[in-house]
Amino acid sequence: MSKRTERSREPSPAATVDHRSGFAALVGRPNVGKSTLLNALMGEKLSIVTPRPQTTRHRVLGVHTTESAQIVFVDTPGLHRGGSRALNRAMNRTAAAALAEADLDVLVLEALQWTEEDELVLRRIAQGGRPALAAVNKIDRVRPRERLLPYLGELARRHAFVELVPVSGLKGKNLQPLTEAIARHLPVSPALFPKEQRTDRDERFRIAELIREKLTLVLAQELPYGIAVEIERAAEEEGQLTIDAAIWVDREGHKPIVIGARGERLKQVGRSARLELNRLLGRRLHLTLWVKVREGWADSARALRELGLE
Ligand code: GDP
Ligand code: MG
Repeated sequence: MSKRTERSREPSPAATVDHRSGFAALVGRPNVGKSTLLNALMGEKLSIVTPRPQTTRHRVLGVHTTESAQIVFVDTPGLHRGGSRALNRAMNRTAAAALAEADLDVLVLEALQWTEEDELVLRRIAQGGRPALAAVNKIDRVRPRERLLPYLGELARRHAFVELVPVSGLKGKNLQPLTEAIARHLPVSPALFPKEQRTDRDERFRIAELIREKLTLVLAQELPYGIAVEIERAAEEEGQLTIDAAIWVDREGHKPIVIGARGERLKQVGRSARLELNRLLGRRLHLTLWVKVREGWADSARALRELGLE
């Protein structure tokens, strides 16, 4: 996060005294809804979401600017146990690094649940010693709402959270109060990013990620996590964006699974990715997908680096 090292903590003369700005890291175990929450808070899909744990592999920033504050939301891969593969370790490192650089930790939880992995994440937060806020997500599943009260009570006993905010990222419930609570606990500071900037990720990244989302959805339980997408070529041709993307699988045997009978599965992925990208980017896209094999890439530090995962 190079921006951080450059900035000064002293409010500049131009900044009003109570302007706040800083990094708010959305942390939690896999699948609690961190990426859904980032997208809901930003009102725009910046991070991909699937029902599968470990969908998010990268740190993704969402920059939310108002008159009085600029919140830099940091979506992170879920901190998880085990996973001896290099990819799992890289994801945990990415999450831990985001946590280390945050001004405020936002622990995202699933309402009424407390698992060993939640405990693990809380221990990390406690070690960091920064202010932490708990966002209790998926409250749309809790009826009646009073059932939340004892859970919130337990949470307050587990850690000195600066605030506990129940939300639903999926249903858009209580997002404004969450945004305001986060802003209240950021340092007094001028804005860290230009007002117009919404994310740190470029179009290429968003295209690759969206393809991976569609792949993950289509493959459901059939394929483990050894899939990566790399944009090999992006060019403006005859008024449309032409993209060649490689889908990397880590075993020869996975290739036919991704391609499907008569190529149907790959076509379906291409179609749904293209439709959403047309909408998201507001322009037409010509997308060609190639399935390629790179034996054991998820275990290879070098392959991870080359795929931008380290
Ligand atoms: P992450 O791994 O923490 O980033 O979680 P995701 O954002 O990828 O979401 C994991 C799953 O939880 C997806 O199937 C989401 O649709 C679902 N989900 C996320 N937020 C909510 C919520 O507020 N309510 C419900 N019912 N489901 C949610
Ligand atoms: Mg995620």
